[in-house]
Amino acid sequence: MPDVQLVLRSTRVITPEGTRPASIAVGGGSIVAVLPYEAEVPAGARLEDVGDDVVLPGLVDTHVHVNDPGRTEWEGFWTATRAAAAGGITTILDMPLNSLPPTTTVEHLRVKQEVARTKAHVDVGFWGGALPDNVKDLRPLYGAGVYGFKCFLSPSGVDEFPELDQDQLATSLAEIAGFDGLMIVHAEDPHHLAAAPQRSGGTYADFLASRPRDAENTAIGNLIAQARRLNARVHVLHLSSSDALPLIAAAKAEGVRVTVESCPHFLTLTAEEVPDGATEFKCCPPIREAANQDALWEGLADGTIDCIVSDHSPSTADLKTPDFATAWGGISSLQLGLPAIWTEARRRGHGLEDVARWMSAAPARLAGLDSKGAIEPGRDADFAVLDPEAAFTVDPAGLEHRNRVTAYAGRTLHGVVTSTWLRGERILDHGTLTGPMGRLLERNG
Ligand SMILES: [Zn+2]
Repeated sequence: MPDVQLVLRSTRVITPEGTRPASIAVGGGSIVAVLPYEAEVPAGARLEDVGDDVVLPGLVDTHVHVNDPGRTEWEGFWTATRAAAAGGITTILDMPLNSLPPTTTVEHLRVKQEVARTKAHVDVGFWGGALPDNVKDLRPLYGAGVYGFKCFLSPSGVDEFPELDQDQLATSLAEIAGFDGLMIVHAEDPHHLAAAPQRSGGTYADFLASRPRDAENTAIGNLIAQARRLNARVHVLHLSSSDALPLIAAAKAEGVRVTVESCPHFLTLTAEEVPDGATEFKCCPPIREAANQDALWEGLADGTIDCIVSDHSPSTADLKTPDFATAWGGISSLQLGLPAIWTEARRRGHGLEDVARWMSAAPARLAGLDSKGAIEPGRDADFAVLDPEAAFTVDPAGLEHRNRVTAYAGRTLHGVVTSTWLRGERILDHGTLTGPMGRLLERNG
């Protein structure tokens, strides 16, 4: 057994076997043992007792747009990773687009890693991008450590990251399946989007009509068909349309290798409550009706939806014009995902074990982050310590995001992150952050 340097003690520790009083022994940055609550503290180790605060495994957010370098006025590794740490997230995976360059070649990956290296307050890994013209780059990128590849099936919003048509998707997917990689997909069908009514203005119902459920359902159906045919691993990003759930459940039951995520905004905000012109609520696919949200929660409860990740995708405030048709689409929530989800989950009768599964264990498994996602011996000593009963009102001024535009402003949420721990080091202590101690992660093997 390695030397134990730290014992973290709580009456409520969330382990894979359930919640119990425990003392977590930490040495060399890893969890050495999960001991009984009353266990004697080994000689030379320091005890940190967090009382009745709940110790969760550090959250893993596999869907973050950091935009660094290139669009650092939108976000950046310094601010994004500070926001993550403040929100109990200890690992993020950066999306390949909105930065310049996008992560579509090994050379571009190295540029992004250099930029992130000195700024990372939490661990940072990278997704690669699959474009119409970079099939030859996919295998080298995988070898260089990306966790998989993102593609769009409809326009991405930035010119340097074009979408794939169905033939191009098949080509890229076949290449990726050849090394058993993972394709993560923004699934909205461009033909359904083109056929939908496009009205400009500040009325949310018009925007919602321009991004119909059918666009998602059709794209997901096509993706499942391709995954089945090629025995490829695919992941549906940011599921909004609950109509697609039966399709996905049937594919999973049949053995198609498909996983699914949804996001805090789809699970806690509804179309009915979006004020006119409030484009801080705009994202694609869009936030839908309350009944749709109920069905998404059922999908989480029955396992059709695997995980919850932020899709944090900020811009500067000036791009959030009051016209839903032209405003930048993206919702900022990196720092708020845990309390937002916990507030809704508890209302719907779910426990923090469920939240830990959706926001830590499942995303870690999705990306193959074997040292993350659980409080058990051998894993990294990454923890989010939460006072689940405490409530606070979201004040944008208190956010670490570079742009403090958020759809959650003024909402009262339950769950205050009192401390965050990365490999046994406390990186957040009651609102105070340390300097950057994160590492750059690369997919092993
Ligand atoms: Zn995204």
